[in-house]
Amino acid sequence: MTRPPPGYGDGLNRPGAEPEVLRVVRPADGTLVGELAVTPSHEVHRRVERTRSVQVGWASLLPKDRERRLQGLLTAIEGRTREIEDTIVAETGKPRVEATVEVVSVVDHIRFLLTSATGFFRPRKVPTGWMAWKRAFVQRDPLGVVGVISPWNYPFILSMTPTCTALFGGNGVVLKPSEFTPYSGLLVEDIARDAGLPDGLVQVVIGGGATGEALVRGGVDKVFFTGGPGTGRAVLAAAADSLTPVVLELGGKDAAIVLEDAELGRASRGVVWGAYLNAGQSCIAVERVYVVEEVYDAFLREVLAQVRKLTAGSTAGVEVGPMTTPAQLAWVEQQLAQAVEEGATVVTGGQRTDPASNVLEPTVLTGVHPDSSILREESFGPVLPVVPVKDAEEAIRLANETPFGLSASVWTKDKKRGVALARRIRAGAVCVNDALVHFGIPGLPFGGVGESGFGRTHGFEGMEEVTRSRGVVIDRLGLQQELWWFPYTRGTEKLLKSALLFRLKGGIRGAFSAAAVLMKGRRR
Ligand code: NDP
Repeated sequence: MTRPPPGYGDGLNRPGAEPEVLRVVRPADGTLVGELAVTPSHEVHRRVERTRSVQVGWASLLPKDRERRLQGLLTAIEGRTREIEDTIVAETGKPRVEATVEVVSVVDHIRFLLTSATGFFRPRKVPTGWMAWKRAFVQRDPLGVVGVISPWNYPFILSMTPTCTALFGGNGVVLKPSEFTPYSGLLVEDIARDAGLPDGLVQVVIGGGATGEALVRGGVDKVFFTGGPGTGRAVLAAAADSLTPVVLELGGKDAAIVLEDAELGRASRGVVWGAYLNAGQSCIAVERVYVVEEVYDAFLREVLAQVRKLTAGSTAGVEVGPMTTPAQLAWVEQQLAQAVEEGATVVTGGQRTDPASNVLEPTVLTGVHPDSSILREESFGPVLPVVPVKDAEEAIRLANETPFGLSASVWTKDKKRGVALARRIRAGAVCVNDALVHFGIPGLPFGGVGESGFGRTHGFEGMEEVTRSRGVVIDRLGLQQELWWFPYTRGTEKLLKSALLFRLKGGIRGAFSAAAVLMKGRRR
């Protein structure tokens, strides 16, 4: 199946299209949120340069001084919490509870950075091997200006977390939010200003794919891209021209594996939440469940009981809201129709709550053909295929069959077995008896393998991505010269040979061999 290009019909992703104004509408009812001027592509480079000029001063601060100033981000968020939630709800259509989850996650991420950034920047001593008279350590230096490109599904988290990580790392940021959620992106600039950060250290550019490409080509030192694999490829190709490094956080087709000894009440609730949170528009959504045959019927019953209780619609207070873009809805409906054509049964859901709305009922499918797109390509919608498997082995094999590898979950009362099976799943993260929660633990690295991308956000690994390591060596003895410098004499040769033996054999044996080489010459 060919995935249609994203866009609202008058979207900005049409080749060659670069309108001057962006119209942002509410997915809930199609009303206008607002209009924003698009940042012309030629202006993007200028913005990067402006941020660079400010970043130099930011980078020169001690990490603890930067931290002190970044503490202000928390106060700034506190002052705008309601506005942030309102903006997310307006632009994405998600329930308010889920907008609050975005804010909580961001705050927790900042807390993590506040407690770990100074430690991260502390120079790390490394052993100098046989060169005992040297001192060596690794320093971490800021990169410069980081370009952040974010999608529409978690517009606040996915704009704020890479931005904050970059700022703690001593960088400036130019952010390009999705054309569907630019106001959530603009809040990042507002928060940075409220926090009292230097003017221009964080800037937002507005527009669609062309603006994103201009940012990748705009002279940034690294690109943090979150989005679909197709766009990820385009970003990588554009970045190749200037050898700009990139982190790609792409899509997923996460599997949940329910074993015969799973606690079915918890497993079904966890899977249902993981599948329908944000109307299924989460990169780490549960997109397929493999259930060991002996508990398949009981698990399916539990799932259906949970799903039939969910409220779906466009009004405030529902649990499953509208899909954010019509193109995304069209894609999921197309995938569903094809699965049914190939023999799948829609056990519940399958229709829009109202033909004129963007709300797709939470849908459960059984009897899905193994080669069906809905089991292999990212859906990014409220659909859940439930598939029986013979045993854990078959579940692992099927879980590993797609090119994606973002995350997964294993449900079993035997935690040891759960962890052992988790290691065999090709994914950046796996939860045992839980789903999606790894994203909310800021100390854990987050990222994928294969089509799900590469590089990591969050954790120390995320800090590594926004900094450069620098090796430093200091000579402690101050001799006139080293033994391997010119001139090369017989003495040089002997010393190096003894060093070689010392390193080859190691320990006491190495020391004796090295001494023997040196003594041999003396005796002669
Ligand atoms: P897209 O790939 O369509 O867009 C992502 C961002 O890239 C948007 O800001 C988009 O702008 C921009 N963009 C589009 N074309 C280009 C280009 N040629 N060069 C540079 N930037 C460009 O993704 P969606 O917004 O549709 O988000 C959904 C996808 O994101 C899903 O596949 C989902 O799995 C993935 N995702 C991955 C996550 C992860 O952490 N692994 C987390 C969340 C989502 P515009 O929107 O204006 O077109």
